[in-house]
This record gives sequence, structure tokens and C-alpha cells, in this order.
Amino acid sequence: MTIETDPGCIFCKIVAGELPSEQLYEDDEILAFKDGSPQAPFHGVIIPKSHIATLNDIRDDQAELLGRFFMVARDLAAEHDLPGYRVVINTNSEGGQVVFHVHMHLLGGRQMQGTLG
Ligand code: 5GP
Ligand code: ZN
Repeated sequence: MTIETDPGCIFCKIVAGELPSEQLYEDDEILAFKDGSPQAPFHGVIIPKSHIATLNDIRDDQAELLGRFFMVARDLAAEHDLPGYRVVINTNSEGGQVVFHVHMHLLGGRQMQGTLG
């Protein structure tokens, strides 16, 4: 498969190894690493290696790729002994997205609180 890269994108630089990250999971298409500003005792970020800006840019034929994000979250939660966890995909600035390379947050290690949004 071809990995699309956006040279200005922080997460593409992490994929390329140009920026350091604490890696949690890797396969041909997906990378997971620790969030640099963790919002919970466990805060992972799951991304496609290929640059896709937002959830809106996921094509129908990439549904399986996106589906595998949930499987990676499930397996990381088990590996890190998270009895419960939250997954979040912020989309566009109105949705709280800051890094425009689609990613799933995996948060756990404490009781999740508050209302979503
Ligand atoms: P967003 O708000 O776009 O959903 O989340 C972006 C996330 O990326 C934030 O939680 C932020 O802490 C994380 N982040 C931004 N830059 C870096 C970085 O260079 N390294 C790592 N590990 N995380 C980053
Ligand atoms: Zn990117």
C-alpha cells in the first residue's frame, strides 16, 4: 500500500520517525503512540500511517481501516489493563480537532467524567 504524506503534518513526521514518539502499536497501516499532553493516566493516539486529514475524508473503501482503529483500541486497553476507557475522534475545529491527520484518542486509567462536549 502507498503511504500518503503531508510534509507539514506533525503526525506524518511521527510516522516517518522525524519526530519522536512513545510507540504503543504498529502495523502496515496503523500507528499508535502516547499523546504528548496526556489528558488521563493512559492517553494513546491511534492514526492511519497515510495522511487523511479528518474523519470526513475517510472514503467508503477505507471503512475496514477505520474499523481496525477500534480493534487496536480494544487490544491496547486489554494490554494496559484498562477496565474501562473512552475513544474520541475530534473532527474539524468545531469538533475540537487541532491536528489535521485523523486520529482516535484512547483515554483511560481513571474514572471518565463529565458530559461529552
Ligand atoms: P486533537 O485535538 O486534534 O483531537 O488532538 C491532537 C492531539 O495530539 C492532542 O491531544 C495533542 O496533545 C497531541 N499532540 C500534538 N502534537 C503532538 C506531538 O508532537 N507528539 C505527540 N505524542 N502528541 C502530540
Ligand atoms: Zn499527516
